[in-house]
Amino acid sequence: MKTDCIFCKIIAGQLPTKPYTEYDDILVIRDIAPKAPTHLLIMPKKHIHDIASVEAGDMPLVARMITVAQEIAQDNDKGKKTDFRLMINNGAGAGQSVFHLHMHFLAGKQMSE
Ligand code: 5GP
Ligand code: ZN
Repeated sequence: MKTDCIFCKIIAGQLPTKPYTEYDDILVIRDIAPKAPTHLLIMPKKHIHDIASVEAGDMPLVARMITVAQEIAQDNDKGKKTDFRLMINNGAGAGQSVFHLHMHFLAGKQMSE
């Protein structure tokens, strides 16, 4: 845990946040400022700064994030498989504002760009 990291604090239960779903290695929460009807953040419980910092040994965890996204897509919209977008911002210039690796899961509206 990185003590000044807001997502590490959420993972540690230090900030009141109801998880969307939780696994041993991954936490999924609703984005506080949703950009789509379903806007979730899939994050490893391990603190990793960004996608560029991912080391070879972390790759199974990154693969797990995608597996979790597949499971969410199955559950979303009462079992009907819907279209969805996965997004990872790397660096402030690309829109990253929280420096704890997370993947945005967006669904529920037409996304044209
Ligand atoms: P980024 O901009 O780093 O790719 O994504 C960070 C996301 O985290 C943003 O979409 C922002 O709305 C969300 N966020 C920031 N702080 C919190 C928080 O305390 N709780 C939740 N649920 N989402 C947060
Ligand atoms: Zn963290």
